Amino acid sequence: MVSERVVLRFPRKLIEQPIIYMLSKKYDLVFNILFARVMPNQEGVLVAELSGEDDNYQQGIDYLKENEVDVQLLSRDVVRDEKRCTMCGACTAVCPTGALSIPDRKTMIVTFEVDKCVACGQCVEACPSNAMKVSLSGLEELGLENI
Ligand code: SF4
Ligand code: SF4
Repeated sequence: MVSERVVLRFPRKLIEQPIIYMLSKKYDLVFNILFARVMPNQEGVLVAELSGEDDNYQQGIDYLKENEVDVQLLSRDVVRDEKRCTMCGACTAVCPTGALSIPDRKTMIVTFEVDKCVACGQCVEACPSNAMKVSLSGLEELGLENI
């Protein structure tokens, strides 16, 4: 099962085509539309969460590209606000990769190794201080940083 956030840009000639309908019908993909914008006589932009079985997902992405839809995956970056972090350690209990850990029990300092992070977002839920945040790069240019 795959679930990804994507930005889709539809050239003007495709705006009235049933592309999304076909994705759902042909590839059994589920679309959760987060944002849509169609400007008269210009391209259409859709930001959506796209979910489905692995093979269907890949075939659906290929179908979009074959139809000249520009597909951009939104990468997720996780950051820690050092000023908010109280070193309580709650996040280390949920982090599946060990990106958040307490390597030294004497100091009890919680370290965050970004290169081990898979952006699952579990620490964001677990942090009582709202120190952990997920940001989606690629949305800034659309002015949609907060969706
Ligand atoms: S997003 Fe997931 S992998 Fe990354 S630090 Fe948080 S819990 Fe660990
Ligand atoms: S749960 Fe939040 S406050 Fe606690 S150590 Fe982790 S990032 Fe810091």
